[in-house]
Amino acid sequence: MTKKPIIGISGSIIKDQGGIFPGYRRAYVNNDYIRAVNNNGGIALILPTSPAETAKQIIDAVDGLILSGGQDVSPFNYGEEIQQKCGAIFPERDKFEFALLEAAEEKKIPILGICRGAQIIDVYRGGSLYQDISYRGEHTLRHFQLQDPPMPTHKIKIAENSLLNKIMQKNSVIVNSFHHQLVKSVPASLQITGTTSDGVVEAFEDSNFEFFLGVQFHPEMLIDSVESANMVFQRMVEAAK
Ligand code: MN
Repeated sequence: MTKKPIIGISGSIIKDQGGIFPGYRRAYVNNDYIRAVNNNGGIALILPTSPAETAKQIIDAVDGLILSGGQDVSPFNYGEEIQQKCGAIFPERDKFEFALLEAAEEKKIPILGICRGAQIIDVYRGGSLYQDISYRGEHTLRHFQLQDPPMPTHKIKIAENSLLNKIMQKNSVIVNSFHHQLVKSVPASLQITGTTSDGVVEAFEDSNFEFFLGVQFHPEMLIDSVESANMVFQRMVEAAK
């Protein structure tokens, strides 16, 4: 039996809204990340928010890293104060995910950042974010859709010869959108490879890696509705072998 690659998925903490222990803190990831990995030949492993000094040993144990969606990245990490429309932040998670990223880059394993995860990559590499869409100050499409997660609502243009293009085999694809923050600046070490018609950055990559991709949309929520979104995970698991 050949061993399947283990894909670590960064987790978050949710406060129980009701049940037996209201207000209790639980570590979790959305189940669609697990399905996206397991359906495509990998083994999903949740990496709960932990002290940053544990990150290296955790990365030693996995073959690929997914940074999942969630809270806003703390603006302090890109040199800004918190503005009125910034959402909830989780600084311990930022710190842990920066450490996971550092160790994963060193090990050169496949890295996929989704939504907040892409923003973490951008900020870690020296980029910055708009704390809310309204701060962009120019025409912007709706990026926080009201439709169900598996329904694609905006088009992205995919750069030729990019990893995303090789994965999706397309120059454009319609994807979902659930973000109120936007990437403002992208460092020179990352190549922008996906944009919406309003010019918002939806994907970037680092061509020095076999698989290093940040996406602002949620491919894990599209695995049953958009085949090319499922291919993101298939390709990542392949690269992790
Ligand atoms: Mn979007």
